[in-house]
Amino acid sequence: MSDTSDAKHSVLEHAVKNCAYYKDYGGKQWDTLPHINKSIVNKNPNDFISSEKPDKHITKTSTSGTSGEVLNIFWGKSEYVKSLMTLWQQRIKYGIYPADKFCTAHAFFDSHFIGYNSLVQINRQKNCLSFNKIFLDDKYLKFYCGEIEKFQPKWLFLQPSIALRLCQYYKQSKTQPPQSVEFIELSGETLTAGIREQLRETFNDAPMANHYGAQEFNCIAYECRCGNMHVNSDNVHIDIDPGENNRFYVTNLMNYTMPLIKYSLGDMAESILPGDSCGCGNKSPMLVLKKGRETDKINIDGAIYDCSLFYYLIDKLNILYDNLFLQFYVEQKKDKFAIYLLPKNKEYAIEIDKIEENVQKTLSAMGIHLNKLRVSISEKLPLSNSGKLNYFKVVK
Ligand SMILES: [Zn+2]
Repeated sequence: MSDTSDAKHSVLEHAVKNCAYYKDYGGKQWDTLPHINKSIVNKNPNDFISSEKPDKHITKTSTSGTSGEVLNIFWGKSEYVKSLMTLWQQRIKYGIYPADKFCTAHAFFDSHFIGYNSLVQINRQKNCLSFNKIFLDDKYLKFYCGEIEKFQPKWLFLQPSIALRLCQYYKQSKTQPPQSVEFIELSGETLTAGIREQLRETFNDAPMANHYGAQEFNCIAYECRCGNMHVNSDNVHIDIDPGENNRFYVTNLMNYTMPLIKYSLGDMAESILPGDSCGCGNKSPMLVLKKGRETDKINIDGAIYDCSLFYYLIDKLNILYDNLFLQFYVEQKKDKFAIYLLPKNKEYAIEIDKIEENVQKTLSAMGIHLNKLRVSISEKLPLSNSGKLNYFKVVK
């Protein structure tokens, strides 16, 4: 396991000296330090900003407001660059360098941007083409795919549901993606086995890597060629609390301008394993993320369940239906549950009654009874305002 203890203590020492929030924590044991999160920092953001800034040039990043709360994070410019370099070290292992051409997707909400320019953009360095992920109907996909073909990217950086939409379009329009694509990086949502399979089929077995990151930290963990998510130990330190449902806390080892120590992102881990056992040679610990977010809780007759319950139900269905379902979306309205399943292809012969029956069977084996459960097949799952697929939604 690579040792981040010197680095984390050095961040703490700096924070104790220079940040109001940490001034009383000098000499305290690491384990006794308080846990923080977005809301705690947002109450008094200035308490987290260091009076001693290592770099007078400041960069600001903001967390997306999917939870309705935006947090601004301030970094010294050189700290930010150093943090990004640790991400590039991971990409370089796949033969991807900063100057290489890539495609990604963006979302705009400002009406000023609606129009041609908001659909496809190319950056100033001319190595990034971004298409608008809010508009994903066939006519837009046709346009995007034409632009991607002209651009000839070496790699793609996408969230799984958008990558899947591209695969679907290539398949149904019987067109080929550009042969130039050598690598795909996925981030921002859970990457299911079904989506991996679609990507492999569409992109000629191009290597792919799952990237777990956040605006507060940049890259937290990155998948190696052996399929393990190694903690990006030069950039972050991770503490896991088995007593708290395996909630884990991230410490930014690069940012001394606004030190974030033992910060919860609301994600949980199945486990964190020592890295020595991985064949790729990376000795950093391996993080196995729990599917779904901590905030996604299901309330059934007053009993609270983790939303990973739905992943379990879909996994069970996929065993029966030969991995037919790629993604799902669940809506809860009081005691009514609607499960929408996105199938791999249109040529399926399934009876909804049978699926509902199977879901109910799995649930009752767990002692859960949902009287009002409806399953439907959907060829398009709803994305949130920020263009992400939230697997679970409670409708008030
Ligand atoms: Zn590895």
